[in-house]
Amino acid sequence: MPSLTVENYLKAILQLELKSGRPRVSTGALATRLAVSPGSVTSMLKTLSESELASYVPYEGVELTTTGRKLAMRMLRRHRLMELFLHSTLNLTWDQVHEEAEELEHAVSEFLIDRIDDFLGHPEADPHGSPIPAADGQMRSDLSDTVGMDVCKAGDSVRFVRVVNQEPDFLRYLSESGFQLGAVGRIVENSEDAGVVRADIEGGQFTVGLEAAQTIRVQPVSK
Ligand SMILES: [Zn+2]
Repeated sequence: MPSLTVENYLKAILQLELKSGRPRVSTGALATRLAVSPGSVTSMLKTLSESELASYVPYEGVELTTTGRKLAMRMLRRHRLMELFLHSTLNLTWDQVHEEAEELEHAVSEFLIDRIDDFLGHPEADPHGSPIPAADGQMRSDLSDTVGMDVCKAGDSVRFVRVVNQEPDFLRYLSESGFQLGAVGRIVENSEDAGVVRADIEGGQFTVGLEAAQTIRVQPVSK
């Protein structure tokens, strides 16, 4: 049985891999993501290599093995299904579910998570629009047709499909502005000088910095 720390490392490596589209992840990126020192990352990566869950090459980075990737996908599946379960059955808001799922993903059994998946009707995405892996480890939806809101131009109509940044304050700001996943809005400003992107949405408007805008994934909508 892998420990909680091992599970968190595998999940973090997978998420960095999915984000960059490259299988090899740097030690520095991993340290930042997990908020730990590069030294402790290095010693953990040696442990993962010895257990054949990842292959770590000093100064080059780390890559998941087939076994490691399977475990990491399982963690992502548990996390995202728990988030959706808490959201749709207990009405927790999208800014509340992440922290709870971080704990529950380690506690829930495979049996229970499969039942939750059945109960929810084999959903494609969690409350943040992130794709949910199926039991076989394949993602149910492919978001390759999305772009970051930071590359949109003023006048573009877009559908908001995913928010990668799960900071509660950020998510609350979006909700309070009237933001809803799946809704269509229009980019009204994208200013590199001011470093902000602004969008009109039904009943309101929201403004985010360029970095935050990268984490809001949209699909262009043709008029
Ligand atoms: Zn989450």
